[in-house]
Amino acid sequence: MKIANKTITATKLVKEALEKAKKYEKYNVFTFINEKEALKKAAEIDAKIARGEKVGRLAGVPYALKDNFLSPEGQTTASAHILQGFTSPVTATSVEKLEKEGAIMIGRTNLDAFAHGSSTENSYFGPTHNAVDFERVPGGSSGGSAAAVALDIVEFATGTDTGGSIRQPASFNGVYGLKPTYGCISRYGVVAMASSLDCIGFFTKTPEDMDLLMSIASGQDPKDMTTLPDYYNNSKTSKAKRIGVIKDFDNEAVAPEIRKVLKEKCKELEEKGYEIVELEMPTLKYALAVYYIIQPAEVTSNLSRYDGIRYGFRSEKAKNLDDIYDDTRNEGFMPENKRRIMIGNFVLSSGFYDAYFLKAAKARTLIVKEYEEAFKKCDFILTPVSPNYAFKLGEKVNDPVAMYLEDLMSVSLNLAGVPGLAIPVGKTKDGLPLGLQLVGPRRSDKALIEFAKELN
Ligand code: GLN
Repeated sequence: MKIANKTITATKLVKEALEKAKKYEKYNVFTFINEKEALKKAAEIDAKIARGEKVGRLAGVPYALKDNFLSPEGQTTASAHILQGFTSPVTATSVEKLEKEGAIMIGRTNLDAFAHGSSTENSYFGPTHNAVDFERVPGGSSGGSAAAVALDIVEFATGTDTGGSIRQPASFNGVYGLKPTYGCISRYGVVAMASSLDCIGFFTKTPEDMDLLMSIASGQDPKDMTTLPDYYNNSKTSKAKRIGVIKDFDNEAVAPEIRKVLKEKCKELEEKGYEIVELEMPTLKYALAVYYIIQPAEVTSNLSRYDGIRYGFRSEKAKNLDDIYDDTRNEGFMPENKRRIMIGNFVLSSGFYDAYFLKAAKARTLIVKEYEEAFKKCDFILTPVSPNYAFKLGEKVNDPVAMYLEDLMSVSLNLAGVPGLAIPVGKTKDGLPLGLQLVGPRRSDKALIEFAKELN
């Protein structure tokens, strides 16, 4: 990535990024453009460079921030009506770390409201368009971030991944997208979706950039008790030898061009001397059902704080306290948010708790164990990211189950806490990006990024 130095100024880098953001306005990538503040920060970095002072590893690098990361620059809306007008008094730990190294946020990116979705069509601001084909979705929920990198507006963008929201849009737009090991990067200051699944990660154009960002953003944070002690920067990457493929994922539900590219890549790896191991992972077929029980259960709890009193929007209609809660939530949430609140309450309600939530929690343990067993037989697993490449805008909006099925191959990683990297590996015959997902055991993030270079 281009970093400011004596020959390229931060101001030039930021100005270029802002111009491109304006040029691609019709793609609806951003919910907010941070022009004034970004230019001010760029001038400060340039002045430091001119004085010969030390600058950070990301000096003057323009980046895009998914609009569910808290920082006082612009409103943090999570693309939801209910957060309109909310300016955060705090800054996310990950944002603080990036900015300390000199990265400059030029805009906040569009997402499915509260990150609920796989196409960025559930946004209060309207859908983002795919960077390669304007008629298609960019994937979701981090569709704006993926498009911002793929359109070359910024050098990198942040994302959140609860069930695929970094990996799927990365593959739909032809960029790299990493969901790290659960607990690798602090979740402090990020709008919570489902706390036991949420991960912070990045979109980049190269594995090298991903490595740099991970070395900056990872590490333990006293403000997030689930963060792991920093292992990323101490990782030893021994060379992988055995690559697993999951037998069950080679079926009719997966687009033929995705199955084809997966087979081609396996062949290439074999030619390079890797052993391809066929894996039976029979519990993975329950992962989607398990995810769509555990995730809404946690969503319903996390969304209960939006009551019209504390954050952002409040309904004008309301005449008393009860109505403030009801009307604000009714008008402020998107239909998909409400669907998840209802499912979450259902699976947690007495009478159904044992049959749904408890059973899903037990099945989750089996999925964790199945990955542990799989990684005794291979070093990494190579799978599709999702069953499809970028689909048409509007194609699945009225069919929630079809939309949920998009997450078939991504959610099990969040349930197991293991890292997954979406890698651009080619194009369909119509020129649409194709990606594959590389999965590793917990804490193998650095090795995954290193191995990604073998696949191009
Ligand atoms: N598409 C998945 C969902 O709708 C994942 C979303 C995410 O990772 N934030 O839940």
